Amino acid sequence: MLENNNIIIVGGGHAGIEAALAVSRRGYKCTIITQNKNAIGRLSCNPAIGGLAKGHLVKEIDALGGVMGLAADHSTIQNKILNKSKGRAVWSPRSQVDKLVYTKYVQDIIIKDSNIKVVENEVVDFETKQKAISLVKFKSGEILKCKALIITCGTFMSGLIHIGNKQFKGGRMGEKRSYGLTDALINKKLYVSRLKTGTPPRILSESVDWSKLEVAPGEDEPKAFSLFTKQPYKPKNIPCYLAYTTKKTHETIRNNIHKSAMFSGKITGVGPRYCPSIEDKIDRFADKEQHQLFLEPEWENSNQIYVNGFPTSLPEKVQLKALKQVEGLENVELIRPGYAIEYDYFPSHQLKITLETKLISGLFFAGQINGTSGYEEAAAQGLVAGTNSVSYVANKKPLILNRSESYMGVMIDDLITKNINEPYRMFTSRAENRLSLRAETAYFRLSEQAIAFDLYSAKQIKTYRSFKNKYSELYNLINKESYLFHGNKTKLSELLKRPNFTFSVMAGELINTIRKTFSEETMFCVETAIKYKGYEAREKQRILKIKSMENCLIPESTNYSNMLSLSNESREKLTLVRPETLGQASRIDGVRSSDLAVLSIYLNSSVSRETN
Ligand code: FAD
Repeated sequence: MLENNNIIIVGGGHAGIEAALAVSRRGYKCTIITQNKNAIGRLSCNPAIGGLAKGHLVKEIDALGGVMGLAADHSTIQNKILNKSKGRAVWSPRSQVDKLVYTKYVQDIIIKDSNIKVVENEVVDFETKQKAISLVKFKSGEILKCKALIITCGTFMSGLIHIGNKQFKGGRMGEKRSYGLTDALINKKLYVSRLKTGTPPRILSESVDWSKLEVAPGEDEPKAFSLFTKQPYKPKNIPCYLAYTTKKTHETIRNNIHKSAMFSGKITGVGPRYCPSIEDKIDRFADKEQHQLFLEPEWENSNQIYVNGFPTSLPEKVQLKALKQVEGLENVELIRPGYAIEYDYFPSHQLKITLETKLISGLFFAGQINGTSGYEEAAAQGLVAGTNSVSYVANKKPLILNRSESYMGVMIDDLITKNINEPYRMFTSRAENRLSLRAETAYFRLSEQAIAFDLYSAKQIKTYRSFKNKYSELYNLINKESYLFHGNKTKLSELLKRPNFTFSVMAGELINTIRKTFSEETMFCVETAIKYKGYEAREKQRILKIKSMENCLIPESTNYSNMLSLSNESREKLTLVRPETLGQASRIDGVRSSDLAVLSIYLNSSVSRETN
């Protein structure tokens, strides 16, 4: 029997890593049980971190002391800011990364961490005592006691891979699936469903005619994800390339679509609406003449190219024929075909806002198991679950992120409130307070919590405090200074509110001093804060109004079947989701405002009954 352990994490993927590192930063020991040590931190799909709204999550993970932003900066081969044609609130950082360097960076950190033990095994079952987790069982027959268990099994639970009409068991290509844990969870009355996701083929670099393709370069002035990345941050700027499907490609796919696992009915799991397969795209957007493909190197000098935009479960031969009809890919060779994978997930309204399961104390879920898709979504959940597993074991206050202060809060609130029946990925449109949740404000919104929960090292505290002081220094300077613009001496804080006025249009002594004294990042943060000041003030008013509902707690024992004046649908949904606050109840699809009024009267009367 292995030595006892307080906190066990099943899975060394993106959720598992951040969970383990959060436990360790809080000064506790934990054990990662994972099937394959060499797969820790593997990027199973696209060789990129960040992107639309995902980049906001990476900044927030960094603001809470997580590793993903540092690892991305360390392995960047190209960096871009997406959505620059829109408002700054939705500008999203994205880094193309070297998959090998990324994984090695993360594995080194995990292996070197004396609070983290890695055991290569498969967890097949667990036991509870008085409805609290007590031990896990390995496939090898060993058991390990624990007080908290975080399950982060990704796409591995009962994983089934599909290529055309071929199917085989696997957690990912080349990795065996995990089996047994789903049944163990069902035996404890948690209920399970199925989802699917897909990945594109990888092609041989030498078989591409690069001269026919459009270059897609990175930013000239790349910006690091992490506040803690050593400056100057000067990553390589290795180009990606643009290609386009053709009418012939579409014809080949249309003529063979019935052979795709998704369309042949072989796959029961629901796929990601926002990361559709190429066959989905051609089926849903039949009139579109071409679809854009990005050819991305999987690592520096790799001969393996990722065909972004072409996830598929078509037969291998059809994939090859369709790709050969793309200009520049006439002689393309496949290194490995694209595939779809179906896997078990556990609808996440079975979780509390801390990511602990409602039915079993001390059992936490994080990552793809909760119905999300994406490295960033998984990592963010892992960090919260890891932090709260320590709060649970040490009987301390949990980390609660609400949706008005972070994208992580938006995601967790969506997960525990809505009926997630398709892979959930983050979008800026999911955040009603996105004007305040800009990527660059993550540290002002979350770093104090990171410090309060011991998620920062002394060095990170120092870096954050100096960043904050520099920000305040520049902000105050701007509010004092005026600037001669178009013949008028105008307050600089007024000028910066104008959409087209930025530091970059200024000249002369004042801006030269500012440039010498403050970093680009500090200047960008102050400039943007001034531009958004008015919007943020209005948003804060709205948030205050909603906050009162957030603080109205709903007792766990509430029995909705007694509330006859509730509509049937609301009664059903409230009974299923069991919201923890009135605010959460208000966001459940189908719960009407009239039902909320009934609920709040009930809550107020039960409070007054208790106090009399
Ligand atoms: P994972 O990273 O999958 O890690 C799970 C870990 O748990 C693995 O190390 C596994 O070995 C281990 N494990 C599982 N069960 C057990 C057990 N019982 N005992 C011990 N260890 C266990 N994300 C994107 O952002 N973009 C995409 O385009 C994209 N497409 C995808 C396509 C495919 C085919 C796949 C497989 C994934 C794709 N993803 C994509 C999803 C992305 O890989 C996941 O969202 C992310 O890796 C989830 O992280 P996780 O930590 O939840 O799980």
